[in-house]
Amino acid sequence: MNSTTNIVLRRPDDFHVHLRQDADLGEYAREAARVFARVLVMPNLVPPILEGPDVSRYRQAIREQAPALEALMAFKLLPRHTPAQLASLKTAGAVAGKVYPEGVTTNSEDGITDLRQIWPLMPVLEELGLVVCCHGEKPGVFSLDREERFLDEFSQTVTKFPNVRFVLEHVSTASAVECVEHLGANAAATITLHHLEITLDDVIGGMLKPHLFCKPIAKRPSDREALRQAAFSGNPKFFFGSDSAPHLKGKKECAAGCAGVYSMPVALEGLAEVFERAGKLERLEGFCSQFGAEFYGLALNEETVTLVRDAWKVPDLAHGVVPYRAGELLAWRVATLSTGTPLNA
Ligand SMILES: [Zn+2]
Repeated sequence: MNSTTNIVLRRPDDFHVHLRQDADLGEYAREAARVFARVLVMPNLVPPILEGPDVSRYRQAIREQAPALEALMAFKLLPRHTPAQLASLKTAGAVAGKVYPEGVTTNSEDGITDLRQIWPLMPVLEELGLVVCCHGEKPGVFSLDREERFLDEFSQTVTKFPNVRFVLEHVSTASAVECVEHLGANAAATITLHHLEITLDDVIGGMLKPHLFCKPIAKRPSDREALRQAAFSGNPKFFFGSDSAPHLKGKKECAAGCAGVYSMPVALEGLAEVFERAGKLERLEGFCSQFGAEFYGLALNEETVTLVRDAWKVPDLAHGVVPYRAGELLAWRVATLSTGTPLNA
C-alpha cells in the first residue's frame, strides 16, 4: 500500500456471498471474480446444498460460469446430518456448515430453533475440521433484538467446543462485537460493507429504501460505530464477508420485498472509502485479504489488486438488480490485478 492515489492490496477474499443458481448464477459469479480470488458460497438455494453431491454439482456449475473464481463451498447444517453425510460433504470439498435459525432469512424455513440442537454433531465437525458459520438471529424475537438474543447460545457453544471454529456471520450490533472479542480464538465474525455504513434510519428513517433492507437489519449508530472499530482494529477475529445477496429489482420493490443488499459490484471500492474516511487504510488489507484466510486455514493469495483514485458512478442496475450505492459516485476504482490486465479489457 502506498500513496493516496493508488492502493495496492493483496488480492481479497469474501467469506460470505450469495451466488444464486441456474440462469442467475453466471453474472453474479463473474461479478465476484472481478475482484475476489475466493468466496465462501452460501448454500440457501432451492433445494439447499445439503449433501456431498450437491456441493460437487454446485461447485462445478460455478466453475463453468466463472472459471477464475475459487468457490469455497458451504452446506446447510441440519441436526439430522449423519457422520457419514458430513464426511461425504468434507470429501466433496465443503469447508463450512451454515446454521440457519428457522425462518430468519431467505430460504430458512427448515432451520433450527436453538444452536444446541447441533451439539451432538460437534465431535464429527471437529474431527473433519469443518467451520460452523452461524446466521446469528434468534427466531421469534423482535427484529432489533434477534441478534443479541442469539449470543447466549452462541457463547455457550463456542466455549463448550473449543476445537471447533465458529463464525458469527454479518454481525450488526455492538453486543455481538463484544461477545466475539471476549470468546476464545475459535470464534470470529464477518462484517459486511453495508453494516459499516448504514443504520436503520437509512432504511426506514426517511423514505423507505427497500434496497438497503437486509437481515440482520442495520441497527443504531452506536452499533455501526462498534462494527467500524472492530473492522479498523486489526483484530484478526473480524474479517470481510459481503453478504452480497442479489434479488431482482421487482422482488425488492413490491409489497413483500426480499431481504438482501447486492454489494458485490462495489465491495472493495466501498471498503476502501470506509477505511480511508476513518484514516485506517493501512488496516484494509488485514480485514479483507488476510484474517479470513488465516481463520479458515487457507494460504494467503499471492496476487495483488490495485485501486486508483478515479471516481465513477455506480450503475442504477446491475444484472437486473439495484446494486448497493446505485447512482452514487465512488472515489476508488479497481484498476488491475497483478497480472497487469486491465479489468475492463
Ligand atoms: Zn447471507
